[in-house]
Order: sequence, then C-alpha cells, then structure tokens
Amino acid sequence: MTDITIALSKGRIFEDTTPLLKSAGIIASDDPESSRKLILSTNRSNVRLIIVRATDVPTYVQYGAADLGVAGKDVLLEHGGAGLYQPLDLNIARCRLMVAVPDGFDYESAVRQGARLRVATKYVQTAREHFANKGVHVDLIKLYGSMELAPLVGLADAIVDLVSSGNTLKANHLKAVEEIVPISARLIINQAALKLKAQAIQPILDAFNETVKK
Ligand code: ATP
Ligand code: MG
Repeated sequence: MTDITIALSKGRIFEDTTPLLKSAGIIASDDPESSRKLILSTNRSNVRLIIVRATDVPTYVQYGAADLGVAGKDVLLEHGGAGLYQPLDLNIARCRLMVAVPDGFDYESAVRQGARLRVATKYVQTAREHFANKGVHVDLIKLYGSMELAPLVGLADAIVDLVSSGNTLKANHLKAVEEIVPISARLIINQAALKLKAQAIQPILDAFNETVKK
C-alpha cells in the first residue's frame, strides 16, 4: 500500500485536525503534547504524521517530505503556495489578520496625512502587499512573536497580527483598526503526490470534505 505522510503542527491545528483524521479512519498513536516524538504512527500502517512548526508545514509539503498538511491561511500567504494544491478550507483555527495600534493612536488620520508608518509583524510579505495596495508607506520590522510589545516600547507605530478574541490586544492597550484577511486552516497537498498517490489521497480528501461540510 502507498505510504502517506501528513504534516501537522502541535496545539490548535493538531487538536482541530484530529476529528477530521478520525473521519478518514486515521487515529494517531501518540499525543504530540505529551510525546516528544516528531514522527507519529497511526492505526493505519501506511499513514504517519510528522509534527513540525506551523510555519514549516508548507515547506515539508512543497518538497514532498510530506504528502499532505494542514496550514493556516496566514502561513500560506507568507509561504506563497508554490508546489501546493489547496483544495479545502477546513474552517478550523479561525481568526483574522489585522492591523492594530495603541489605544490613543489616530490611525485613520495618520494614513490620510500620508505619514510613514513603522509596522512590526511576523507577516512581512502579507503586510507589505496590504499597505502597498492602500498606497501607505511603511517600514516593516520583522518579529517572530509577541508583536503586541513593539508599539509599547517604541519599536513600531502599528502591528500586523492575528486576532481572535481581541483580549491580548486589550490587555496591552492596543486596538484593531483594520482587517487584512480572514484566516482559517487549509488542507494542502503536494502537487506531484496528488497525481502519483491519488488512490491513497483521494479517500482522505473526500472524508475531510464530507466532515467539513457538516
Ligand atoms: P507558536 O505559538 O508555537 O510560536 P505558531 O503561532 O506558529 O507557533 P499556533 O499558535 O499553533 O502556532 O498557530 C497555528 C495557526 O493557527 C496559525 O498559523 C493561525 O493560522 C492559527 N491561529 C493562530 N492564533 C490563533 C488564534 N488565536 N485563534 C485561532 N487561530 C489561530
Ligand atoms: Mg501562536
């Protein structure tokens, strides 16, 4: 039987993908939260899961080290999607990519006046495109986490970050002022694998599709 490797990240992606995998008859042998294993076997001898950083999932699938993966739209926008087939919005890990500024900052008039904004973000590509489309001049500052801190210590005027409840922004005296794009996680498939391993991959895709539609 054809071997299938599925790339997932720990945390919400793994948790929200577990029921989808179950609907395809795939059950992981270990819980990545408690196990240190990076390769997990499943109840199906030909299917294994690999646990990678969320931002690395598209890379593993692009190069065929994994056949399938689950990645946030935010991660896919930054990656660019080369070599990936993205057939299905899984409607999990939903949030929004937004521009946020300190409570007292008048974003609208700063933009209207053509001010040059310093924007800190993990999402440099997506942010660059967003502000270019608006005709807003920005200096982008790449960060790897805790973006909320940047405006509080004078590193940036604004941030571009994922927002779900808004509680983290509120706790740091920031406000969301603009939505860039709604985010959810997508099933991604290596384009070559989809052709060469269609018989093994198609039933998984069908099961995910059915479960997502419900
Ligand atoms: P880490 O938090 O370990 O540094 P990460 O932020 O890359 O890594 P997660 O926090 O698990 O990993 O996020 C994985 C994906 O889940 C993100 O790419 C995004 O699509 C989505 N996501 C992130 N934060 C939220 C949130 N607060 N609510 C819903 N979905 C989210
Ligand atoms: Mg995170």
